[in-house]
Amino acid sequence: MTFGRFFLLCLLLAGGFAYAVWRGVVDIPDHWNPWAPLDVRQPPNLLTPFKLRALQNDRALCEQALETSELNYRLMPDSTPEPSCPLRNTVRVTNAEVDFSSPFLATCPVVAAYALFERHGLQPAAQEVFGQPVTRVDHFGSFACRNIARSNRRSQHASANALDLAGFRLADGTRITVARDWKGDGDKARFLRLVHQAACKAFNVTLGPEYNAAHHDHFHVDMGGFQTCR
Ligand SMILES: [Zn+2]
Repeated sequence: MTFGRFFLLCLLLAGGFAYAVWRGVVDIPDHWNPWAPLDVRQPPNLLTPFKLRALQNDRALCEQALETSELNYRLMPDSTPEPSCPLRNTVRVTNAEVDFSSPFLATCPVVAAYALFERHGLQPAAQEVFGQPVTRVDHFGSFACRNIARSNRRSQHASANALDLAGFRLADGTRITVARDWKGDGDKARFLRLVHQAACKAFNVTLGPEYNAAHHDHFHVDMGGFQTCR
């Protein structure tokens, strides 16, 4: 068999297998099936970024992902709270495994990524460093009809496609804030570095204090544009 024919045969076999998985003829676990909705309970794997991308423009798929989470949320109708900032595919989140400093409105993909981040990044980091869970997340909000600071480009906050994470409280009441604890080499700083890394894995964009002075007191996370981890 020539290399060309061998290559063609492999392509046919791979294509046939993919087709069989897609049609449900071959049964593989959902977390290894690229066409199965994201299940946030499953540990992230190679397919997770692909699945997160898939639910960006698919409201039904995104809602299925949220159903697998511990979040308390309400699906919101599309609206235009301000003329230049229409909101599509948003969810109002009241609480998760943690409480929030206040409920927030964000796009379904941001909320799905948050659910992954909390379960597989934030809580394991708290257990690793402090041996206890995070019970409350303090944030600076998600929706704000505005441009990026000192630019004329629209912020991801203008479509509620972003969230600003400012601090965390542990079960014993310990408070950790990005503003105060990012610098240094103690447990709180180590925890925040793990949280920042975890955010980079879950969200498309994560910007922290190293990025610029505007982010000295929070981690900005969003699901727009290019993969960025700063
Ligand atoms: Zn932000």
